[in-house]
Amino acid sequence: MPLSNLAAIDAAHHIHPFSDMKALNAKGTRIITRGEGSHIYDSAGKKYLDGFAGLWCVNVGYGRQEITEAVNRQMNELAYYNAFFGTSTPSATLLAEKIAGHTDGHLNHVFFTNSGSEATDTWLRIARVYWQAKGRPEKTVVIARRNGYHGSTVAGAALGGMKHMHEQAGAGVPGIVHIGQPYWYAEGGELSPEEFGLKAAKELEDKIAEIGADKIAAFVGEPIQGAGGVIIPPETYWPEIDRICKENDILLVADEVICGFGRLGEWFGHQHFGVKPDLAPVAKGLSSGYLPIGAVLIADRVADVLINEVGDFFHGFTYSGHPVSAAAALENLRIIEDEKLVERVRDDIGPYFGKAWKSLEDHDLVGQAENVGLMGGLQMAADKMTRQRFGKADDLGSYVRNVCLDNGLVLRATGDRMLASPPLVITEEEVDFMVKVTRIGLDAAWKVRQDYV
Ligand SMILES: *Cc1c(COP(=O)(O)O)cnc(C)c1O
Repeated sequence: MPLSNLAAIDAAHHIHPFSDMKALNAKGTRIITRGEGSHIYDSAGKKYLDGFAGLWCVNVGYGRQEITEAVNRQMNELAYYNAFFGTSTPSATLLAEKIAGHTDGHLNHVFFTNSGSEATDTWLRIARVYWQAKGRPEKTVVIARRNGYHGSTVAGAALGGMKHMHEQAGAGVPGIVHIGQPYWYAEGGELSPEEFGLKAAKELEDKIAEIGADKIAAFVGEPIQGAGGVIIPPETYWPEIDRICKENDILLVADEVICGFGRLGEWFGHQHFGVKPDLAPVAKGLSSGYLPIGAVLIADRVADVLINEVGDFFHGFTYSGHPVSAAAALENLRIIEDEKLVERVRDDIGPYFGKAWKSLEDHDLVGQAENVGLMGGLQMAADKMTRQRFGKADDLGSYVRNVCLDNGLVLRATGDRMLASPPLVITEEEVDFMVKVTRIGLDAAWKVRQDYV
């Protein structure tokens, strides 16, 4: 079967996630056939630097034989067994221990899922069950944020703050409300980032006052919003959110699906921001995407209730703690540990990337280029002085993204922001290439814009 036929077959049979299929079929799907280190190759043999680590997930890079071998060994020994009826497998049990060992010591229990979305559904049920068991069954409401992303199951879409998702199939789950996001560039007005961080956190306090703390189970946020555009909150934001949750006896949920496992230069994103969540869904970097697996990390005070007071927790997936996925994750975490990738991101390649990425701020199109570790957001601006953004119709991000692709670099775009999230093993030369090609994309967009204006 020649690979060149695959695009036609794909158009005939394959509905893609988050895609306008008519437009995609007209253009043709790009078929990716191979990966090595920080690079991927398509069916035409073209090589790309993957500045997005697949979908925020390939932390250890592609082509790791150690993971392939660990998976192969596990497949041969025991391809599947469940964790439902008083059993577990060595890899699931050891993975729970290993994950707990990288928290600050208070997230000692793990519930396994197959994805981030399932982790979202899982912590939502845990939060409500927790308050029921505590004799507070009326504490059910969850406060989330506009432009947050928590997955694509019904609960994931409802908790996420993506208007287009709510509009398409309804927000679905009762008892979910949203507040604003800490997006200073777009919404900070005349305030300094620090002042705006406090103002954005105050929205939580106001919402709690409006609804009543006695009705609220939890607040959820990504340490840094990923799909929303790599929105890095001002430093004042998370400590204030933490204080408000504690004062009102509301569970704090940190969605670590992207930020976990080294991306921000700590094992978990909340460690970077200095807060301690009660629940933390993870996925993506847990296995570097080699096999699907997610989990919810559970703080001692919640686990204690779940274990000692709830009795049966009626929740679980056929593949919770799947031994082969767990074996892949264990080997992935061993690589992250042995190669000191978290420290590398914090002390070495993260700062290198940050400096290179920030150098793009001298470009006429760029309002701000910021990062934490290897998560970068680049804000384009129609007017740098007034922080005026581009409109949806400009679709500038997609334009820049396409030019970058033509030049051998994968980035993601949301509206007028460019998003970067390369593998944690990316080299300095590869970072230089990323920034060089991003500049080519920006130059091309600038030129088109000049012609148009
Ligand atoms: C990707 C993502 C999810 C959903 O994970 P899936 O594995 O796609 O279901 C949830 N939360 C965040 C922050 C994510 O980035």
